Amino acid sequence: MKILVINTGSSSLKYQLIDMTNESALAKGVCDRIGLEHSFLKHSKVGENPVVIEKDLYNHKLAIQEVINALTDDENGVIKSMDEIGAVGHRVVHGGEKFHDSVIIDDEVMDAIKECVELAPLHNPANIIGIEACKHIMPNVPMIAVFDTAFHQTMPMEAYIYALPYEIYEKYGLRRYGFHGTSHKYVAERAASMLGKNLEDMKIISCHLGNGASICAIKNGKSVDTSMGFTPLQGLCMGTRSGTIDPAVISFLMEKEKMTVKDISDFLNKKSGVLGISGISSDFRDVQDAAEAGNDRAKLSLDIFCYKVKRFIGDYAAVMNGIDAVVFTAGIGENNDYVRTRVLKDMDFLGIKIDEEKNKIKGQELDISTPDSRVRTLIIPTNEELAIARETVKLIK
Ligand code: AMP
Repeated sequence: MKILVINTGSSSLKYQLIDMTNESALAKGVCDRIGLEHSFLKHSKVGENPVVIEKDLYNHKLAIQEVINALTDDENGVIKSMDEIGAVGHRVVHGGEKFHDSVIIDDEVMDAIKECVELAPLHNPANIIGIEACKHIMPNVPMIAVFDTAFHQTMPMEAYIYALPYEIYEKYGLRRYGFHGTSHKYVAERAASMLGKNLEDMKIISCHLGNGASICAIKNGKSVDTSMGFTPLQGLCMGTRSGTIDPAVISFLMEKEKMTVKDISDFLNKKSGVLGISGISSDFRDVQDAAEAGNDRAKLSLDIFCYKVKRFIGDYAAVMNGIDAVVFTAGIGENNDYVRTRVLKDMDFLGIKIDEEKNKIKGQELDISTPDSRVRTLIIPTNEELAIARETVKLIK
């Protein structure tokens, strides 16, 4: 069966067509600048160079139609007709407390996703538009929603309730939800499989370190805590996000710098983190180059990032009474050996020891622990699209 995986943003739509008989991607691409001037679709058959098709994509329906055209195209396509698509798996950012798992989308589910818009006003509306566009173009194909938050719905209350008056939680659902759940779940399953162990018997710390970054404590296959919160702003410092700060900073800055609510939100989400500290870039490659060339603020930003990752690992080792495996994934987690070395330095008291030569190897699943390390440290490239496709197949079966 072939599954189309869709990840819709406000002006973009990423897709991947996966053949689930052998779990291989057939084609992938992105529609960009939807609703704007100079919109285009960048499409590639796996293993071939991408083609860029400039096209007026006034809305997401036109974008989906263009994706279908590309997938069925004589030259660049990979299927003969739309009928070969068995189901569509949609990434949906926020499922609130309503969704503990992926679901088949029906009218009731659509209403519930719409009710979660208040919790993710930047993301869920785009996801809804994507689902509606697909339903319009492919009315008879089953659609599945896979939520970023669902995996973390197993967190105990003590982990997810903020120490605010309890009525606020009841009134607004204001609590920690966590994100990147699809990725954390996927790498935890891979970790168990790589180590030949049963996930239900393991304590895993998953470090999803990309431009957005979060850490998850996974005990017996369930998320018991994660670093992101009500929004993806909490937790680690990230490419452009501050991560956790003293909340009093917000009123202080709003007063001193005459900031509006939007100003402070942009400040914390888009101008802070590694970009804000280094003053150079949110991309770790640029920051690392600058640090190596002697830029102190660039070095400081990396120090802060690594320090915060290390603290979460310590935190979650305490939460779970030990660790069997630490997993690194996403752009930085998979590729940046400097960050991994810095984070795991002096953690032998926890049983973590890595082999520096293995740590330099890139682009593959790998156990980089020394033979005598009690805890296994793994690099596992994440594959959220495949994870969504697997959920989709599981549900429609
Ligand atoms: P992501 O959000 O997962 O795409 O991760 C983005 C971050 O990963 C950026 O800070 C990049 O510097 C880093 N990154 C991505 N690919 C590489 C690579 N091949 N080598 C080193 N860093 C990388």
